[in-house]
Amino acid sequence: MKDENCIFCKIAAGEIPSKTLYEDEEFRVILDLGPANKGHALILPKDHYADLFSLPEEKAEKVIRLAKKMGTQIKDALHADGLNLVQNNGECAGQTVFHFHMHIIPRFKNDGQKIGWIPGKPSGEELEEVRKEIVGE
Ligand code: 5GP
Ligand code: ZN
Repeated sequence: MKDENCIFCKIAAGEIPSKTLYEDEEFRVILDLGPANKGHALILPKDHYADLFSLPEEKAEKVIRLAKKMGTQIKDALHADGLNLVQNNGECAGQTVFHFHMHIIPRFKNDGQKIGWIPGKPSGEELEEVRKEIVGE
């Protein structure tokens, strides 16, 4: 379940070197080459799944467990003040590498980084319409 044209498959398999923080049979956790902050890491499954939608449920469970473990280790080791987990799916959502990955981004007071969105102001009726659309009522 590898994609021979995928750089993250090669990194996860150890064919391309990376700064590895953790490895087991199913995952490799590496430092991001273009970090938002010191300690910015990526959780990569060793098998190729393009995004969250194709990631099997049991892998998804392991990803969040690993995010907690590695996020805590990074935060403690680097004395971070906080942490963002970020996971992009689709080009419009900012995904640039189409092999599932979870970002672990330690945050420091006044680090100048912005991970956010422009909040909307929907009415209660509008929110109810959205709720119905999603749950299929
Ligand atoms: P995305 O935008 O798809 O959510 O995130 C892709 C991330 O992968 C970016 O933060 C980028 O810096 C990182 N990245 C891209 N290519 C490489 C690489 O070859 N090695 C490492 N370690 N990180 C990479
Ligand atoms: Zn891949």
